[in-house]
Amino acid sequence: MIKNDHYDLIIIGGGPAGLATATGASGAGLKKILLLERHQRLGGILNQCIHLGFGLRYYKEELTGTEYAARYLKTFRQTGTEVRTGSFVHRLTPQKEVTFVCPEGEFTVSGENIVLATGCRERTREMLTIAGTRPSGIFTAGLAQEMVNIHGIVPGMSVVVIGSGDIGLIMARRMTLEGAKVHAVLEILDHLSGLIRNKIQCLDDFGIPLYLQHETLEIMGKNRVEGIRYRDNATGKEHDLPCDTVLFSVGLIPERDLLIGAGIEPGNGFHVVGNADYVHDLVDWVTKDGEKLGRSLGNGLPGKAK
Ligand SMILES: Cc1cc2nc3c(=O)[nH]c(=O)nc-3n(C[C@H](O)[C@H](O)[C@H](O)COP(=O)(O)OP(=O)(O)OC[C@H]3O[C@@H](n4cnc5c(N)ncnc54)[C@H](O)[C@@H]3O)c2cc1C
Repeated sequence: MIKNDHYDLIIIGGGPAGLATATGASGAGLKKILLLERHQRLGGILNQCIHLGFGLRYYKEELTGTEYAARYLKTFRQTGTEVRTGSFVHRLTPQKEVTFVCPEGEFTVSGENIVLATGCRERTREMLTIAGTRPSGIFTAGLAQEMVNIHGIVPGMSVVVIGSGDIGLIMARRMTLEGAKVHAVLEILDHLSGLIRNKIQCLDDFGIPLYLQHETLEIMGKNRVEGIRYRDNATGKEHDLPCDTVLFSVGLIPERDLLIGAGIEPGNGFHVVGNADYVHDLVDWVTKDGEKLGRSLGNGLPGKAK
């Protein structure tokens, strides 16, 4: 069922970065390419992004995330890349061996080049120092987005968003469209974290306030969230805000645990691309970076392709 045990290129992650790397490498002549994706579908985070705002640079057209993924997949499918979905990579070795588990069992393959295109993960409440209990109703914004857009589950109806990252702004609008009351987005910094266009389209257009320099001190509630306590750091005054749901949008962390766990630095046949390299605002740049890396691998000159 695995066609080979040694590949020219093994790509871990089937989001836009992984798809673009395979496309670039195939165009530059690499033949034996394996792409491993833990989910059943290719497309990565784009599959849960049903809002507009993707592709203006790459396709010169404004698409939703799902439309962008569908369009790019048509190009990718011409590459002849061997694709294994439902395949979770859990180990790398310095000898460029890749071990993954899938419904058929565990397999180890090796490659001349290994590309980590594993995206990023969200910072959680536990990574911040916010006091309180651990009631239900606390989610990262990206998880809430997956629940609403993919599984059709609305996580709550009375919402506060903590942090002004793009996913939080987009989810403030999404929850409003689902009939929830979004009371506010609270940001500890004195400036917005996300894109200004998202503040206008997701908060201002829906009358959702953004409170800057507002620090969340405590989450209250026993079984379910009942509210938060926050401080306006400009005035020093503290307030309670009742709600049943708290969404955190407080940053993204490149997902490189596979390399770190094996003590491997990028270089010597290991490469990192897309959000696993650094967090990109726009998918267009992720695609371009992936294609460039792929071409350079095909040309045997990592990072030197035009
Ligand atoms: C909510 C949100 C809104 C956005 N809005 C916009 C927008 O409006 N316009 C825009 O241009 N960009 C937007 N972006 C940014 C853009 O979508 C991302 O920068 C881009 O999708 C990142 O691509 P990636 O391939 O690096 O990561 P991802 O899309 O996250 O793909 C990584 C893939 O790797 C897989 N993976 C991870 N670990 C493993 C493993 N161990 N084994 C196997 N597979 C693994 C994951 O399942 C996933 O499919 C948005 C992003 C988010 C999260």
